[in-house]
Amino acid sequence: MPKTEPDCLFCQIINKEKPAHIVYEDDNLIAFLDINPVNLGHTLVVPKEHSDNMLDADDETLKQMIVATKKIAQAIIDSFEEYDSFNLELNNGRIAGQIIPHLHWHIVPRKVDDGLKHWPGQKYLEGEDVTIAQKIREKLS
Ligand code: AMP
Ligand code: ZN
Repeated sequence: MPKTEPDCLFCQIINKEKPAHIVYEDDNLIAFLDINPVNLGHTLVVPKEHSDNMLDADDETLKQMIVATKKIAQAIIDSFEEYDSFNLELNNGRIAGQIIPHLHWHIVPRKVDDGLKHWPGQKYLEGEDVTIAQKIREKLS
């Protein structure tokens, strides 16, 4: 049985103590419609085992999430004429916009001229990209 937290909203949905429009469920994962969809069909993919965020989750769970996401995203796109793309969004941590502290990511289906914008980019200063890439490589090695 996955470990759940009594005070966690998504654990309550997993335990069927709170309602949700579930579109997919297996032993390890659940996926349900976001209550405030960015576009209709916006779905949350949620592991049943409670972890606060991605950095706390085990690798096997993350693999299961991405494999199920491929299937679910295709099903969402196939359910609407106007969709042929989607964004996969993970808000990891409070400053990144995570409101519900139970790991989940968003499948947001996209249609032409839906008004959603990607975040703006900035430019690296001369040499800054080299230093930053080096720093990250060192942390990974
Ligand atoms: P995040 O900012 O990544 O933590 O997003 C949490 C998401 O959960 C938001 O998009 C909310 O609309 C959604 N949400 C909150 N409560 C519920 C609920 N009871 N059922 C479905 N989705 C919910
Ligand atoms: Zn939880």
